[in-house]
Amino acid sequence: MDGREMLRMMKNALAEGEKTALAEVGEKERSPFAVLISTVLSHRTRDEKTSEAAKRLFSRFREPKDLAAAEEGEVAELIRGVGFYRNKAKAIIAIAKEIVRRGGVVPNTISELMELPSVGRKTANCVLAYGFGIEAIPVDTHVHRIANRLGIAKTKTPEETEAELEKFFEKEDWGEVNNIFVLFGKRICRPISPKCKICPMTDECRYFQEKRRSD
Ligand code: SF4
Repeated sequence: MDGREMLRMMKNALAEGEKTALAEVGEKERSPFAVLISTVLSHRTRDEKTSEAAKRLFSRFREPKDLAAAEEGEVAELIRGVGFYRNKAKAIIAIAKEIVRRGGVVPNTISELMELPSVGRKTANCVLAYGFGIEAIPVDTHVHRIANRLGIAKTKTPEETEAELEKFFEKEDWGEVNNIFVLFGKRICRPISPKCKICPMTDECRYFQEKRRSD
């Protein structure tokens, strides 16, 4: 099965039009800055909480210069509900300040994005994919796990998985991979007790085939 067909089958197993919080922010806000800040807010936080916090925050501080000048306590109150909200308030103000120092524009390359404080490879790739619409595959724990279970990758680190996924999927499909894999990982291929009984990927799945042989 090729990558496009795989994405199609996984997507069909999800609710129609369902999107992750980051895909939603990318579509609604059309702002790389909003995607960047939302990605930081989303760490270890449920999607609903991320969306609510992002909405409150951007209704008050929309631009890097606004957030850079914001008072930390107010920002913390606005994003209350996301995990580690006090630390994240500090972190997103620091990101905004650094963007302002560099001219006020969010960079659109992975290397420049990763120079910003608190921005790692996954966050940078989220900004490229959802903020700029540039082909990129952000790899979080869901994407890493499912790629390895399916057998697309046999890797230890997200970086290695990203490289394998880039080989497997057509470049024009890269932008869809994160959204579909993350939702598929929440609804079907869960970390513990994956719902293989209702999964359309059993014929393709290395994990399922190996488990069946050993049962
Ligand atoms: S068959 Fe099971 S392990 Fe494989 S992708 Fe589906 S849910 Fe995940």
